[in-house]
Amino acid sequence: MELDLQPIKLQGVSEDRPLVIAGPCSAETEEQVMTTAKALAKNGIKIFRAGIWKPRTKPGGFEGVGEPGLAWMKRVKEETGMYVTTEVANTKHVEAALKAGIDLLWIGARTSANPFAMQEIADSLKGVDIPVLVKNPVNPDLELWIGAMERLNNAGIRRLGAIHRGFTSSEKKIYRNLPLWHIPIELRRRIPDLTIICDPSHMGGKRELVAPLCQQAMDLGFDGLIVESHCSPEKAWSDAAQQVTPDILDYILNLLVIRDVKYTTESLAELRKQIDECDESLIQGLAKRMRVAREIGTYKKEHNMAIVQTGRYNEILEKRGSQGALCGLGSDFVRVVFEAIHSESVRQQLEILNK
Ligand code: PEP
Ligand code: MN
Repeated sequence: MELDLQPIKLQGVSEDRPLVIAGPCSAETEEQVMTTAKALAKNGIKIFRAGIWKPRTKPGGFEGVGEPGLAWMKRVKEETGMYVTTEVANTKHVEAALKAGIDLLWIGARTSANPFAMQEIADSLKGVDIPVLVKNPVNPDLELWIGAMERLNNAGIRRLGAIHRGFTSSEKKIYRNLPLWHIPIELRRRIPDLTIICDPSHMGGKRELVAPLCQQAMDLGFDGLIVESHCSPEKAWSDAAQQVTPDILDYILNLLVIRDVKYTTESLAELRKQIDECDESLIQGLAKRMRVAREIGTYKKEHNMAIVQTGRYNEILEKRGSQGALCGLGSDFVRVVFEAIHSESVRQQLEILNK
């Protein structure tokens, strides 16, 4: 299905990359909201985020201040001129947010994973013209993410955007949520006109990771960034480890190198031709290797030899691994490539054996 989209243009907000949304994970007190918002506005931020209803994995944590926080968001709008956005997860939230004049809505990662909740939100937005940003579902399921956006689009929401906040994984490594960049890249290929924003805060889970993730998102051609920023990050009531002060955020944004996204295709034509030539000779080389492997297969069959000879296999992996390292290729990469080549050779020889 094709989505019927419009760009998320907001009056007074530059259309240059990145579109920046910033603010605390949660609205905690009126003072915290106003202090943070004023500092962000002073640094030129135009869109303020704050969670009013907080989805928590377990009960008992801080679940957000709820509706009273909406009045603080209204104050932010009036006193700083910033647009304001918050997370909605059900009809009640949508109605309260619209009534309070929230300018953009976002859907959290736990909600976008739930088609019933998404349909309920979509139904409550019928006939409303407001930009909606949809975070990826917690699990790496692109279809579920697109499906959530389709439900909103079917309800008439055309100013849609996607927020890539990374994916839950049992192998945590350095990130709170694994980036799995190929998923938003595939999303861009499938829906080229969709605004895609990166959330480095929930992806990294630590403030030190915010800057490198912002740069990576820009290098990959993302349209915007949504970054958690708090006037006293270490005292935050939720996600304290990943929030940065408005001044640190300003510093991070100023250091970003923004490369041209429109420039690629023509200016790269010559280099792309070279890549095509390399790929062709790789295919030809592989085909030649397989012809030789089949000849070896015939010999093994005639002499009643087993196909896989472990000693030889190890020799190939070691020899090509060290050769690859000398040429600047990663050892994991070389291993994976030669494992795949070897397994194709084995498959071809098995074919001969069973002929
Ligand atoms: C948030 O943005 O504060 C939030 C709850 O994020 P996510 O839905 O990505 O976990
Ligand atoms: Mn958060």
